[in-house]
Amino acid sequence: MPASTQPDVMDKLVSLSKRRGFIFQSSEIYGGTGSVWDYGPLGVELKKNMKDQWWKAMVRMRDDVEGLDAAILMHPRTWEASGHVAGFTDPLIDCKTCKGRFRADKLQDARCPQKPSKKPGEAEQCQLTEPRMFNLMFKTFMGPVEENASTVYLRPETAQGIFVNFLNVQQSSRQKVPFGIAQIGKAFRNEITPGNFIFRTREFEQMEMQFFVEPGTDMEWFEFWKAERMKWHEQLGLSPGRLNYHQHEGTELAHYARAAFDIEFDFGGTLGFQEIEGIHNRGDFDLSRHQEYSGKKLEYYDAPNNKRYTPYVIETSVGADRVTLAALVNAYREETVEGEEEGRVVLGLHPSLAPIKAAVFALTKKEGMPDMAHRIASDLRAHFPVDYDETGSIGKRYRRQDEVGTPFCITVDPESVKDGTVTVRDRDTLKQERISADAVRGYLSERLPG
Ligand code: ATP
Repeated sequence: MPASTQPDVMDKLVSLSKRRGFIFQSSEIYGGTGSVWDYGPLGVELKKNMKDQWWKAMVRMRDDVEGLDAAILMHPRTWEASGHVAGFTDPLIDCKTCKGRFRADKLQDARCPQKPSKKPGEAEQCQLTEPRMFNLMFKTFMGPVEENASTVYLRPETAQGIFVNFLNVQQSSRQKVPFGIAQIGKAFRNEITPGNFIFRTREFEQMEMQFFVEPGTDMEWFEFWKAERMKWHEQLGLSPGRLNYHQHEGTELAHYARAAFDIEFDFGGTLGFQEIEGIHNRGDFDLSRHQEYSGKKLEYYDAPNNKRYTPYVIETSVGADRVTLAALVNAYREETVEGEEEGRVVLGLHPSLAPIKAAVFALTKKEGMPDMAHRIASDLRAHFPVDYDETGSIGKRYRRQDEVGTPFCITVDPESVKDGTVTVRDRDTLKQERISADAVRGYLSERLPG
């Protein structure tokens, strides 16, 4: 993977996220829960926008993909069939000296907790154990009495809910192969080395789509989805120079995969290029295994050609949290402003992702300005998430909005009360235009994609 040329902005983002209400540490008053995070008022909007953009592109805009919302808890046999009970493991290495815990397959990227920090095993007194395999699934019990209850797992991926519902969806929606099933939902992994903010957490959300195709057409569809998914990331504003494909080869290829590519994003600093999405050709592995373990046929009947077959699956799998982090890292910039001593921090988020689309200000609390500004804000609120602010200098209010990525600020000044016009200021160009207050809604609609 190419080396990163981008600065490390992670610490700045963690602090901005807490200060402005994007992301908080979970159960912070108790000292926090290891690598679990809560989304605050702005974060929940940002992540929801991300999920809505995915749903729109993958389900609403296509007539060959259906939506699904499967349960987190599934029959325990699911995870035997999928191979997760036997094989969803990571190799764990402990250091007896510094008590550090590392993933053997990610040792290259790891740092020892001792100072000065080195790679695990590099310091003289370092005593690393042999790798031991560690299953990443969270186990719990179904039923009130623990001893008699069956063991169930919190799903480590959303995909299996799609495979077991393949025929339910196909038959109820009368879809014909090729077609896909998409869902967004929580997944849980007891990661050995979580960290880097919301990059790797133990509870996260996935946006996955399984596309069922006739065997023999699979590589064509694989290439289609590979290109399609890269386009999606670019359209949402991730800089093309920070995006990259990484092909899985040899032992990197998962047991179920016939071909796999990651889409990587350059997170900057030492994290550098990392996977944000996987595109996999899973062949007929999953449907065949579920047929074998459940004893139920999961074949497709191709009526016009009078043939039955088990479809192959092309999967696209992206983490909602991880891609939200990519959007934040990509958007963060510090700028100097001409004529001002203090610079500004801007989140140059794509307008469709911005948690607040417009902020409305009354220049002062006098001369009917707040009334007019309130009227404009409440008219806009029916159409866009809007913020109203009348405290602090106008410069400070602009900065507050820049820092959370608000694309437009609308200011009501003394002239507005007289002639019914307002100024609209653009976050990126800093240009201000004076337009009629009645035209604001149309002005924003034209510039804010749905
Ligand atoms: P890694 O090698 O980083 O552990 P993976 O190859 O196991 O990831 P997949 O199983 O392909 O990941 O999951 C698909 C997507 O889900 C990833 O591209 C990522 O965006 C997201 N994802 C996976 N694990 C986590 C996690 N622990 N925290 C946040 N997002 C995750």
